[in-house]
Amino acid sequence: MIKLTPNLVTDFHRSLATPEWIAQLERVVTGRVRAQEELRSDEGEGTLKFLHTADRNLGPESIVKYICVVEANCQRAPGAPLRDHYRASLRWIPEKQEFLLQGERAHKVEGEWADQLRTALRKRMGSPEGVREVIEELRHTACPSCCTKLRIEYYPEGQKWWCFCPNDEGHFNMEGHYENWKDSPMTWKDQVADRTCPTCKSPKDVVGILYGLIRDPSKIDDTIWILGGCSISKERWHCRRCETEW
Ligand SMILES: [Zn+2]
Ligand SMILES: [Zn+2]
Repeated sequence: MIKLTPNLVTDFHRSLATPEWIAQLERVVTGRVRAQEELRSDEGEGTLKFLHTADRNLGPESIVKYICVVEANCQRAPGAPLRDHYRASLRWIPEKQEFLLQGERAHKVEGEWADQLRTALRKRMGSPEGVREVIEELRHTACPSCCTKLRIEYYPEGQKWWCFCPNDEGHFNMEGHYENWKDSPMTWKDQVADRTCPTCKSPKDVVGILYGLIRDPSKIDDTIWILGGCSISKERWHCRRCETEW
């Protein structure tokens, strides 16, 4: 169950948010938390507040006065600390005596850590030197979730790289382009990803999948790449012999 602590600043909202009303909201929010795949339990606690509290929003015709925001932190297991985050915006419909969900977001704490790290690093990747620095730094960075050393792999021939947590790609995952890999002191050869086709068990006819909009496809070396289109998916390799992608 998600227990909510109300933070009410107007008389209107104090009289609206009776204990029964809050209990009804808690049942709705708990159900929504349970429905989030990322979250692993529906135990937690949170706050409730109303967004529109100025006098002009409290008139009899106003519907915005019924919009509330719930922010909750959820446990993963009994006794575990409150770690993951759930946020929702709901509107009370007085005629129906029920809540209408207007928006929601669930986020695991690891996801937030990884997002922060990625955002900070991406800001520095505007130049080739910046990219090189970021890669060097990632080589010495631990996974924000499990503290395992992150792994960097280059594919197919060093031009693209990705960095991930070897325990769980969901912990951290980031990729980028790196054109000057040949000038780099990095030992990228040690880290070229395994490209053995899971179907033919051979790396011979395997090429990398290059995603994104390519302005001049004739410049792409098709012994190394196959174009993957604009929507990036998790497959990185394509076997020209058996068409397997993984
Ligand atoms: Zn990890
Ligand atoms: Zn194959």
